[in-house]
Amino acid sequence: MSRYIDSHNHMHALSWDEWELFAMTGMAGAVLSCGNPHVHREIWEAPPTAADIFRFWDSPIRLARVAEEKHFMRLRCAVGVSSMTRVEGWEKLTEALPRYLEDPHVVAVGEAGLDPSQYFQLAWELDDQARCLEAQARIAAAAGKPLILHTPTPKKSVDFLGGVAVQGEVSPEEFRLHYLRRDLEIIEKAGLDHSLLVIDHVDGSIIDYVHTETGAWCGISIGSALRPIHPDRVCEWVREYGPERIMLNSDHLGYRSIDFFSVPKALRAMRRAEIPEKDIRRVSFDNANERFGLGL
Ligand SMILES: [Zn+2]
Repeated sequence: MSRYIDSHNHMHALSWDEWELFAMTGMAGAVLSCGNPHVHREIWEAPPTAADIFRFWDSPIRLARVAEEKHFMRLRCAVGVSSMTRVEGWEKLTEALPRYLEDPHVVAVGEAGLDPSQYFQLAWELDDQARCLEAQARIAAAAGKPLILHTPTPKKSVDFLGGVAVQGEVSPEEFRLHYLRRDLEIIEKAGLDHSLLVIDHVDGSIIDYVHTETGAWCGISIGSALRPIHPDRVCEWVREYGPERIMLNSDHLGYRSIDFFSVPKALRAMRRAEIPEKDIRRVSFDNANERFGLGL
């Protein structure tokens, strides 16, 4: 078993026993992406307010403070306004965000990023999402903290709580690139350096663009049934693009089936593929440890 850092998950939505199981898979630390109501098994019939989202920020921060003592894992938080659920009065949240970033348990802004689909059929107009993303990118730049960029996945209505979101005619590749380019325009306008940008949920449709057209970090989420990625693909990407900017994560959450062993399986696949040990460690531990300042 190797120790790894899960650079993006929502395990605060999971139970004690599940945390124990994660620890036994080798998870030594994780960055919790906070602020997404849909990762919990809750159904919303009206958009959450800023007060609701503060609760989604505060509770995991409190968990992170005790995680090391209780579970022997170092947890840190990313706090932000996700576009996956429309939030009423998000300006109150961005106003408070700089103060949250002073907390030693908060290491990043996010996840945030344009998404044309929202949970619970609570649609959020893209121009307003763009304003919200720009505000968060400016705050991250000013604080010198990384921004975790959520990149959207084309969804079928069956993927969604409340049944939403049928995409048009564009191919998944075009869809993914289109939103990534729009996100990057906003982020550049906000003056956030790519060294502080973690583009997340990267897959085969955008990994080349991330490595050739940006200087950003490349988060690869491999534990979600929504975007299945075979461990062999991870091996190919680490070989092709090198380990310098890749960070593996599970994106585990509480509202659908997850593969607890997704990251350990990728580590074993990389070993079978004879990827050097130092490169495996880089994509599964060192990059996240350094970029998010986990100090492990
Ligand atoms: Zn996530």
